[in-house]
Amino acid sequence: MADPQARFEELVNKLREREYRLTPQRVALMRLLAASDGHPSASHLYDRLQEQFPTTSPGTIYKTLNLLKDLDEVLELGFSDDDNRYDGNKPYPHPHVICVRCRKIMDLEVGMAQNLLQEAAQQSGFQIVSHRLDLYGICPDCQDRE
Ligand SMILES: [Zn+2]
Ligand SMILES: [Zn+2]
Repeated sequence: MADPQARFEELVNKLREREYRLTPQRVALMRLLAASDGHPSASHLYDRLQEQFPTTSPGTIYKTLNLLKDLDEVLELGFSDDDNRYDGNKPYPHPHVICVRCRKIMDLEVGMAQNLLQEAAQQSGFQIVSHRLDLYGICPDCQDRE
């Protein structure tokens, strides 16, 4: 993971440059996003933010997440059977491993997808512009619990 403090400052600067309001809740949310490596859901972020700001509304979370998404500063992972999850550290497409038991999501190196993407482009003639690569499995913690 990148340096959380550096990433936090990067996020704050992006909003500042565009003259978005930096409310204390917004700043705290960006701090959470920059420091988290577990791809939190919006409701998880909401719970954490409420500890610091009891009056936080879910709308604040969604508005800020959508804003950061529009600025390409957060990667949203949508799931049909589960809450969306957010990566504020690597806002670009990259492969993930997802635990089918505890829903832990971990990053894999971007390089791991390169061969696949090249081959996909060759086979299909498509110019690949983005990708979503999820590998499902059972994480080491859950294996230990068996
Ligand atoms: Zn697990
Ligand atoms: Zn990720």
